[in-house]
Amino acid sequence: MALIVQKYGGTSVGSVERIQSVARRVCQTVASGNHVVVVVSAMGKTTDGLVGLAREISSNPSRREMDMLLSTGEQVSIALLSMALQELGQSAISLTGAQVGIVTESEHSRARILEIRTERLERHLNEGTVVVVAGFQGISSGEELEFTTLGRGGSDTSAVALAAALGASQCEIYTDVPGILTTDPRLVPQAQLMDEITCDEMLELASLGAKVLHPRAVEIARNYGVPLVVRSSWTDEPGTRVISEVSPTRSLHNLEITKAVDAIEFDTDQAKVALLRVPDRPGIAARLFGEIARRNVDVDLIIQSIHDGNLNDIAFTVVSGMLPKAEAVAEAIAPVLRSSPQQTQEAEVTVDRRTAKISIAGAGIVGRPGIAAQMFAALFDAGVNIEMISTSEVKVSCVIDREDCDRAISALCLAFDLHCSPVHMPNTASVPPNTNAPLVRGVALDLNQARLALRRIPDVPGMAAKIFGVLAQKNISVDMIIQSQRCRIIDDTPTRDLACTVARADAETACNALRDLAELWDWGEVVVDPHVAKVSIVGAGMVGHPGVAARMFEALAQQGINLQMIATSEIKVSCVVAEEEGVKALQVIHQAFNLAGKETVEVPV
Ligand code: ASP
Ligand code: MG
Repeated sequence: MALIVQKYGGTSVGSVERIQSVARRVCQTVASGNHVVVVVSAMGKTTDGLVGLAREISSNPSRREMDMLLSTGEQVSIALLSMALQELGQSAISLTGAQVGIVTESEHSRARILEIRTERLERHLNEGTVVVVAGFQGISSGEELEFTTLGRGGSDTSAVALAAALGASQCEIYTDVPGILTTDPRLVPQAQLMDEITCDEMLELASLGAKVLHPRAVEIARNYGVPLVVRSSWTDEPGTRVISEVSPTRSLHNLEITKAVDAIEFDTDQAKVALLRVPDRPGIAARLFGEIARRNVDVDLIIQSIHDGNLNDIAFTVVSGMLPKAEAVAEAIAPVLRSSPQQTQEAEVTVDRRTAKISIAGAGIVGRPGIAAQMFAALFDAGVNIEMISTSEVKVSCVIDREDCDRAISALCLAFDLHCSPVHMPNTASVPPNTNAPLVRGVALDLNQARLALRRIPDVPGMAAKIFGVLAQKNISVDMIIQSQRCRIIDDTPTRDLACTVARADAETACNALRDLAELWDWGEVVVDPHVAKVSIVGAGMVGHPGVAARMFEALAQQGINLQMIATSEIKVSCVVAEEEGVKALQVIHQAFNLAGKETVEVPV
């Protein structure tokens, strides 16, 4: 008999009728010969209602009391669903997180799961009883037995963690949307339902997918290889499969505290081309990478950031063998790119033949501030200078001197406590293109970011480590990080610019902290722009396929949309554009990759 974990969200158990209909679906699953564990959220908007009550009493309620309060919501729905199952003649029992033994850290309101005791669950299941578990909650590991919650939306995480601990054959997340869509259907009505998506793609699409699936749930599914499905509670449609590559067997001990970084990847066969002082106007990246794609050259990392004086730098890496072609294109384009006839300095091409790329990768990078800073600090301690940085949700990549690669690898293995041998990333040109995966699986728009520009920072090793260390101390997650190519000499000191994005809500704190740092060390300025939008394309199929980034840039250029920042990972390209152009950008990119479906997918408003 197979074991299935089903999770029903708030709307799916929002009324007595809906609870009864959930009970019928559970009974059907049992009738098809399965053991079933059901995880439920609080009914409808119960949790929001409880938060509202607390706010009426206190503007800053204690996190312990909030957990005590919010964990009651799920207790209502488990009892009612159990009763509904019993009414249908199905033996069922409801259990709170504490009764199951979902043991967590004692961090109230955002506890991570340490361990799930499965004895009691298994005993009930073996008796043919359906176990209905309260999602979102657990019990602290200390002697005090404190109620804890996992953070808003945390029932998904409870469900996938239970599936991992029980070795379930599938975890099904039932919700009020039909599955995961290629983009936000409120902004692009032609958004289409995906049949499947990989966990890594899902994590990279966090800003799109997080509303449907708690990122921590995806993290657990990826780490433990839990087969996951997201589907509608109202229909029998198959929904979207969230697939993970078969993973190494991990211990279930410290279930959610597993390493944030689980691999070091490197490629010593890269060369870097930079185009300096290109005008800040739409169409430049499209032209450059369009021409490169036409020569069938696959670019790996691409970064672009803005500088003062309205001139940008664009840098990218290719496998060494492709350098002559890439360099020729850049050289041909440079003279044509004068921003104005008055501009005295022409765009300039620089080439670095001896570079290596080194990356840290892992599902735990998203939402854990300080991982990037830890990487930069480890490289600094090892005396490795960072030439280029590019980040995504599940990866931080640095371009360094090839000579430094071995030292960098040992430093990072040590810093992230990885004993396994690092993965050598064969250069992308020799990887057989992944023909099963679409080039672009989904497109996301993130309107919650602000852009920070740090100008004229002395170009000495260790600066990135200091800057991102300060932000990590303030618990601020940094999203995109870009380091400029150009070095400017100011008062005999070489300086560089850095740009990054942070959540808009953190922008002021980040800016103040960095201004203090700037004053302390006498740097240039820190400039914040809250009016930006980040658009991203994600697809495992883009690895080894020239021209994907170019197609995105061309679509944006045709609309006259200017790119303020570009950062890439193997399976993602992100651009920062002006806030008011975000929705348009999303629409044209969705169109450019033919993601539109014929039917409109119905989603609740
Ligand atoms: N009830 C909790 C919330 O609304 C947990 C969940 O629904 O996933 O955030
Ligand atoms: Mg949810």
